[in-house]
Amino acid sequence: MKRLQHPLGMRRSLRFKITVSFLLMTLITFTLFGILANVIFRKQFENYVIENLNQKNTGVVSTLESRYSDWSNQWDVAGLDNIGIGAMSDGLILRVSDQSGSVLWDAMVHDSGMCASMLQTMAQTMQRQNAGFDGGYTEKTYQITVRGNVVGSVAIGYYGPYFYTDNDISYLRTLNLIIVLVTVLVGAVSLVFATYMAKRLADPITRVIKTTDQISEGNYSNRLYETSNTREIVELTNAINTLAEKLEKQESLRKRLTADVAHELRTPLANLQSHIEAILDGVWEADERRLISCHEETIRLSKIVTDLEKLARLEGEGVSLNKTDIDLSALIRQVINSFEKELGSKSLTVKTALPEIHLHADGDRMTQILTNLLSNAVKYTPAGGTIALAAADENEKVRISVKDTGIGISQEDLPYIFERFYRADRSRSRDTGGSGIGLAIVKSLVTAHGGTIQAQSEPGKGSEFIILMPK
Ligand code: ADP
Repeated sequence: MKRLQHPLGMRRSLRFKITVSFLLMTLITFTLFGILANVIFRKQFENYVIENLNQKNTGVVSTLESRYSDWSNQWDVAGLDNIGIGAMSDGLILRVSDQSGSVLWDAMVHDSGMCASMLQTMAQTMQRQNAGFDGGYTEKTYQITVRGNVVGSVAIGYYGPYFYTDNDISYLRTLNLIIVLVTVLVGAVSLVFATYMAKRLADPITRVIKTTDQISEGNYSNRLYETSNTREIVELTNAINTLAEKLEKQESLRKRLTADVAHELRTPLANLQSHIEAILDGVWEADERRLISCHEETIRLSKIVTDLEKLARLEGEGVSLNKTDIDLSALIRQVINSFEKELGSKSLTVKTALPEIHLHADGDRMTQILTNLLSNAVKYTPAGGTIALAAADENEKVRISVKDTGIGISQEDLPYIFERFYRADRSRSRDTGGSGIGLAIVKSLVTAHGGTIQAQSEPGKGSEFIILMPK
């Protein structure tokens, strides 16, 4: 069977799509989370580094204070050398001066090459960390105070506004690595999970497709037995099972219909043929009785053909309705009157409960519906029985009921009586002249009006046909 092709692009499996969507969603979420965490953390880290730098500077100032001897009012210049060199290893360039401003120790003088290369390395490191980093040589001057007296000052130079030490950089690298690792790990876990979920969702659908294919090939008895806890899959399974059930019923009806048409035509044709042959062979005389019998058979044949044509028209072209405001009770009474002869000959009693009810419907079609129902009630009710016709308003709808005390319909036949050619009791309906089309016509007409029809029956007691019509 040819399936409709999607005109654009390649078609991918549901499993593939679910997996990729899930994976993409997880990766995007975690990448965004990683970037955000990184930005926030870097800002925090920057503040921490600046704070740390300030503390280092104050540390240097208090160490310098300890190198001033207040009883001799002199600086321990050799000690300054140690402090200055120590500070250089921390990235700080010191210039210590006494209270008169003369320089006691200067890192630039001590090792200007090292200072320059230190600043250059820092600039390169910071540029590597952040290409747009706006930094340069920065200097801050602090007073050195001993017992409340200013004994000198120190200018602390560094690469500012802040710089990362090797430790800081390795800390940042570890952090980035952790974020990347977590993202990869979450990605891997979500891939496993997505594959599992996709399989769980796609597998039943694949099975549904397989069974549906088998059903479409004519194996209407195939059914799906999926025990999924996904609502849509359960609904899909149920829908396909219902479809298969309906197809199976249709198929058996179709077979029965063909057999019925053949059977229905064969009997009157065979009768006609044998009667005419008998007359031609001189076995029978062509008297009035024989001719009437032949005539009845041709009438039966043409009734079947007419009913079939009528139904084919209704089903093929759809029913075009000429709706007007009709007086339903008057219409029902008119239909009853048209059956006066049949009702009288079978001594059937007719009861009515017909208040004045108006309906927006096609009058001719309504007459046809009621004629068919009443005709059946007359046909299938033994002499002396009762037929009751009623109409009433029922929540925005009109309820029409045709009830008889006839032979009734068995529970097995009840679901099929509205199908074409379906007759509950073939031999009996042949006697009553039924072709099994009347109720199929009724159903098409009621449905065309937007109404519903249903039948209730108990064999031996009678049947009731109830129509609900929108007003
Ligand atoms: P038919 O021309 O055979 O009556 P219908 O389509 O009108 O065809 O009805 C289908 C079958 O339903 C009938 O053959 C009969 O077996 C059953 N049926 C319909 N109406 C009644 C009824 N009022 N009482 C009993 N059986 C009925």
